[in-house]
Amino acid sequence: MDLTLTAEQAAVRQLAAEFANRELLPHAATWDRRESVDPAIVGMLGDLGFLGLTIAEADGGSGGDHLAYCLVLEELGRGDSAVRGIVSVSLGLVAKSIAAHGSADQRAEWLPKLCAGSALGCFALTEPDSGSDAAALRTRAVRDGTDWLLTGTKTFITNGTTADVALVFARTGGPGHRGISAFLVPTDSPGLTRREIHGKLGLRGQATGELGFDAVRVPDTARLGAEGAGFRLALATLAKGRMSVAAGCVGIAQGCLDAAVGYAGERTQFGKPIAGHQLVQQLLAAIAVDTAAARLLVWQVADLIDRDQPFATEASMAKLFASEAAVRAANNAVQVFGGYGYIDEYPVGKYLRDARVATLYEGTSQIQQLLIGRALTGVNAF
Ligand code: FAD
Repeated sequence: MDLTLTAEQAAVRQLAAEFANRELLPHAATWDRRESVDPAIVGMLGDLGFLGLTIAEADGGSGGDHLAYCLVLEELGRGDSAVRGIVSVSLGLVAKSIAAHGSADQRAEWLPKLCAGSALGCFALTEPDSGSDAAALRTRAVRDGTDWLLTGTKTFITNGTTADVALVFARTGGPGHRGISAFLVPTDSPGLTRREIHGKLGLRGQATGELGFDAVRVPDTARLGAEGAGFRLALATLAKGRMSVAAGCVGIAQGCLDAAVGYAGERTQFGKPIAGHQLVQQLLAAIAVDTAAARLLVWQVADLIDRDQPFATEASMAKLFASEAAVRAANNAVQVFGGYGYIDEYPVGKYLRDARVATLYEGTSQIQQLLIGRALTGVNAF
């Protein structure tokens, strides 16, 4: 693995870093307090090509490889995880699924809009009674002539109340994962209702919603991939999605490192900057090591994907480690800031709250451990 960035990768990282410094970091605390990022951000992300990374230019995307994608997500995560998550879902889970599995018509209908930021996507898998055990989902799609009627409830859906299209997983056959199919459902479809979930611990600037489906009618051409192949599609999508969550966590950890080193140099206690106290340096060193290790795991996954190699277990490792590392890094950064870390004048408290959810979604830490354990032993311990 060559750890030297190409000129294109370095340029896109620089572009994303400047965007994060200029458009995200100064506003992140305000958006967090009011529970909404500035909606204009989506258009800016589209203009910069960040919502079309890795998608072919012929499909309306901005191309580039997965390492460049991870570099951008790291910078967005450093700036505001709420924004990083909007990209991870609309591009990483929805547009990439359409690019990989969509018909020519589906790609032409959705990809140019999703990549430009004139439309957003959401990924609707989780239900009130099925989270980790997603294959137990109960939303049902029943044939009606050449159409399908979808009925059920999805919850915790990122971009749920802002998205224009929902990638919905519904049961079209019997129990188990083989009975599940995927559908692209416009969110203005009659019978589809949406409710925003308020009061999140972190990612507060991001819209998380509950979606209700009451006999929502879609044509068979809205089915993404083969009938009964929806769960496999979801798993393949989530494996890549884990890399993007992990990349965002590297950004959180890097943001914590920058903030903590800066503060330690400025804050004086016992007659000298706290950076000169050994136990503070221990905290800083721990943050630095967690950040670097998480970044290397993420880059490994990107490298495997770009070389068309198997990557799912490595993506679980990167997501498990980077999410836990980001929580540790943010917790250590709060410690470096002392009482000032506990108020939102400084970014580290928000980093801690934002990092926490990464150990929960797209497969909890326990689910990643079971995936890694299964790959090691060949034994399914779910
Ligand atoms: P549960 O599955 O009930 O798990 C509870 C606990 O039990 C966890 O600690 C878990 O690790 C543990 N557990 C469960 N099974 C096992 C087992 N076999 N062995 C050991 N431990 C186990 N979903 C979407 O579909 N789309 C989205 O866009 C989306 N965005 C989200 C955004 C936010 C902010 C949040 C909080 C969630 C989001 N989710 C989304 C849902 C998320 O993926 C689920 O919350 C997650 O999969 C866990 O499911 P659960 O919350 O039902 O927890």
